[in-house]
Amino acid sequence: MRVLVVEDERSISGFVRQGLSEAGLLVTVEEDGAGGLRRALSGEFDIVLLDIMLPGLNGLEVLRRLRASGVTTPVLLLTARDDVEDRVAGLDAGADDYLTKPFAFAELLARVRALLRRPPLQQDDVLRAGELELDVRRRSVHAGSIELHLSAREFTLLEYLLRHPGQVLTRTQLGEAVWGLDFEHDSNVVDVYIGYLRRKLALSEAAPSIRTVRGAGYVLTVEAE
Ligand code: CA
Repeated sequence: MRVLVVEDERSISGFVRQGLSEAGLLVTVEEDGAGGLRRALSGEFDIVLLDIMLPGLNGLEVLRRLRASGVTTPVLLLTARDDVEDRVAGLDAGADDYLTKPFAFAELLARVRALLRRPPLQQDDVLRAGELELDVRRRSVHAGSIELHLSAREFTLLEYLLRHPGQVLTRTQLGEAVWGLDFEHDSNVVDVYIGYLRRKLALSEAAPSIRTVRGAGYVLTVEAE
């Protein structure tokens, strides 16, 4: 799960980054409104934590532009002002929730988790594409009646693809989802693991395939019947 934190106060972004990273989330920090908007528009985040008082573009304006562009990523507003007008303006502009500073980290984490649990970001235990079935709890993968034996990295990669069906995923997205901070952007490890997965998926005619989108990345596709 990827979190974008748009916050200009480094003491806050530092503490939020550390806490969310320890909770297993991948955190990116931007310190001004324009940078935050650019990042958020990429659509590669599962949630955005957005400060209202930011240099340049303020948080409410970032939020309005984000929603006007059709980006539906959940947004949790962080505001120093415990001001009813601000909250109403934030919710009107498309915020999903807000938190007033100063806040306890436990409360932030609870709000973040609640937003990440909302559909369509619900984390299902069993993911399916065509005849392929991946059981997150049992760590098992079946293609029709065939059980596929995947390594831990292959499993995580396939799980990520299944959670983003029909969506073109870049090497960076896949690399960071599977290898986290250890991902080296100039390595070909994603392509290598896509190759491993393809070979295993090819064991069953019923399994979906991973299509290369030239210059963009990969997409999991189920062949039409
Ligand atoms: Ca601020």
